[in-house]
Amino acid sequence: MDSRISGFHRLSREERIRAVAEFAGLTPGDVEMLRAGSGLTPEAADLMSENVIGLMQLPLGVATNFLVNGKDYLVPMAIEEPSVIAAASNAARIARLRGGFRASADRSVTVGQIQVTGVSDPFAALQRVREHGEDLLKIANDTNPTLLKVGGGALELTGRVIDTERGRMLIIELLVDVKDAMGANTVNTMAEEIAPYVEDLAGGRVRLRILSNLATHRMARAWATFDAEATGGPDIVEGILDAYAFANADPYRCATHNKGVMNGVVAVAIATGNDTRALEAGAHTYASLGGRCRSLTRWETNKSGDLVGSIEIPAAVGTIGGATSSHPIARLSLKILGVGSAQELASVMASAALAQNFAALRALVREGIQKGHMKLHARNLAVMAGATPEILDEVVGRLYKLKRITYDDAVRIVDEVNASRRRSGGA
Ligand code: NAD
Repeated sequence: MDSRISGFHRLSREERIRAVAEFAGLTPGDVEMLRAGSGLTPEAADLMSENVIGLMQLPLGVATNFLVNGKDYLVPMAIEEPSVIAAASNAARIARLRGGFRASADRSVTVGQIQVTGVSDPFAALQRVREHGEDLLKIANDTNPTLLKVGGGALELTGRVIDTERGRMLIIELLVDVKDAMGANTVNTMAEEIAPYVEDLAGGRVRLRILSNLATHRMARAWATFDAEATGGPDIVEGILDAYAFANADPYRCATHNKGVMNGVVAVAIATGNDTRALEAGAHTYASLGGRCRSLTRWETNKSGDLVGSIEIPAAVGTIGGATSSHPIARLSLKILGVGSAQELASVMASAALAQNFAALRALVREGIQKGHMKLHARNLAVMAGATPEILDEVVGRLYKLKRITYDDAVRIVDEVNASRRRSGGA
């Protein structure tokens, strides 16, 4: 089915649910869960974390118009920040004019690190450990027969000697194809299992045994052409190239630029129950690998003057394991997305991130970022100022007419509307 649903944002919530249900073949139970805003129960939450006292809910929406490698997607995004989902949908609509996004992702190879300290001959120790590589891989793989069965498992054992403020250290690295999982538990278990053997072989003291979140062995990439006219014309295209150059030259701008990119990644990650901290840590470290912050995206023009965007990000995401399996809304989001593997999820996520960056740069270069935020910003300020549901629409309507909206305006208008309702109630 086509994800290009014109006027989706103007439908009522009930109509949107019906459209998504039809697109994704949802069951009546799924529909009811969306309708009621239910999903995770406090009882289930109590089993996921510690000291649980309640739930923290977020808006769940879908970004429309996504065409990735010729397949239509409605992309679930869970995020409280206004404009993110609208921006992604709008960017995907423009990308669609030129065939949508192309995207790919590496095999899900995750690195586990074993830190060995106090080794007198670390370089020779590295070779001693590597000599037993096959045995150690087998010990690692014995911890996870299921992973082997689905075609994954520990692939390679390697290592490095590093100099630190506490002297030389031997870092043994275990490369594991974690297939459709994010892989942290899988790899940590393997690293812990082989660590005593590594310690014996190296002749030092093993300290840490944990995955690295700098997931450069599992990169996701996406690229798309944005028609120059639909983007806003040649001047807007030039402005976007200037904005990109600014991000690459200045860390203060770069942080915000990449934050915008991560709006797309994180919203999809939350919706699908993925580990946002792992993704953020990986992406920001990757962006700074050259010694200073660089844009996670690249922007250039083709021979016809259209804007061409591309992105490459570490994408340790799963469609199985962790909260992706235990959170009912995450399972439902994966169903709406209709991805068959972690690599497909990573490809869509990279496309959403590129879309997000395009939309943010375009808005910044055109009318500025605040215009798109105004309606929801007005709503948030009205609620903050104490507007009750009965007067909310009127307060928002009046706030929206102002040139600049402040909290003080919201308080004043809430007072005025309340006073006028009291007067007309008493008349
Ligand atoms: P997991 O251990 O819950 O599930 C993965 C398991 O599912 C695999 O070990 C495998 O046995 C099984 N499986 C079945 N079919 C599979 C398939 N097709 N592909 C892959 N595995 C399959 O989850 P995980 O992904 O190992 O760990 C993720 C969790 O670890 C997340 O909740 C994350 O927040 C958490 N975590 C993260 C960090 C970190 O990022 N630094 C550290 C510790 C824990």
